[in-house]
Amino acid sequence: MSLLALLQKRIKAHGPLTIADYMSLCLQHSEFGYYIRNDPFGTKGDFTTAPEISQIFGELIGAWLAAQWQESGKAGAALVEPGPGRGTLMADILRATRHVPGFHDSISVHLVETSPTLKKIQWKTLAGKHHDLHWHNDLHSIPKKPLLFVANEFFDALPIRQFLHSKKSGWQERVVTLDERGSLAFGFIAAKPPAALKKLPVSDELYEYSEDSQQVMQHIAKHIVKHSGAALIIDYGYIRGTHGDTLQAVKAHNFYDLLKEPGTADLSAHVDFEALAHVAQEAGASTYPIVTQGMLLLRLGAEIRAQALSKTARGEEKSSILSGYARLTSPDAMGDLFKALCITHPGHPHPPGF
Ligand code: SAH
Repeated sequence: MSLLALLQKRIKAHGPLTIADYMSLCLQHSEFGYYIRNDPFGTKGDFTTAPEISQIFGELIGAWLAAQWQESGKAGAALVEPGPGRGTLMADILRATRHVPGFHDSISVHLVETSPTLKKIQWKTLAGKHHDLHWHNDLHSIPKKPLLFVANEFFDALPIRQFLHSKKSGWQERVVTLDERGSLAFGFIAAKPPAALKKLPVSDELYEYSEDSQQVMQHIAKHIVKHSGAALIIDYGYIRGTHGDTLQAVKAHNFYDLLKEPGTADLSAHVDFEALAHVAQEAGASTYPIVTQGMLLLRLGAEIRAQALSKTARGEEKSSILSGYARLTSPDAMGDLFKALCITHPGHPHPPGF
């Protein structure tokens, strides 16, 4: 059986799927889910992420996290990364911070991952790089200690729902259903919007809402308010307002049909940073103005680090350092599309980069 056959059977028996249900099944189904079966990264995979492009990304974030640890009074802390992919970001963080006096001895390292395939790859990447490594299926088993949290391209993989508010039909939800030939097709059904959307006006554009993202954010913010710490969230997304339909499928570095061969392409949506910041504030955490990835990395010294690395490198290595730096920071590559949100304990001083 394929995921397509399974979805067709399910829709026939129980009716249309919300976009969130469709995303969850495509990405996380225990047998056919995209993340459960694949290693999607790198030139041979479906997409490439910032830590896979340049070591500078993880090095600067490592220095940033160590500084946050110092601000938390150098207490024993939990360094947590959800959705660590191949483990490259965590490996760079640990390498960059190994000479920070006391840091490695004070922390335990926690990777939150649903994919058995990626867990194995992460273990291979990280074995021997820290003495206290742990894997979790979700955030609920993270120890109740000050938190140092970093998430890159994690929130975009969490399911979203999509709603339309029209004059004629009122509120409707976009769903995945079957057409007359039994193929997967998008449709709309009458629906009650979540409370957060209720006051939004009639519009031609879709409104997106990610309950899962908000729940994760609330969990982290409450943890930080209670036990201290800081969180850094980097992803592609928008800072203000709504941006219509941002759901996308990516396969082999190209956009792909959202409904074709479900489970074989990465599905993601742009992150609503304003909504996440709002949830964190409601939970009592401090938030700071959201910045672009380019701005954050430049403020943390990306240019100086790229120059230092390229000085000792030659030929192909030198050009890959410089092109990696440009790709992460320049506005027409990842620099502007990706944004960064920081939340801290309310007693924390203003974090660098924000
Ligand atoms: N942070 C990595 C990988 C980003 S891809 C990088 O920057 O390279 C998304 C990652 O999130 C994958 O590791 C995927 O398996 C994981 N993931 C997706 N949904 C998840 C969920 N609900 N819980 C935990 N991990 C999840």
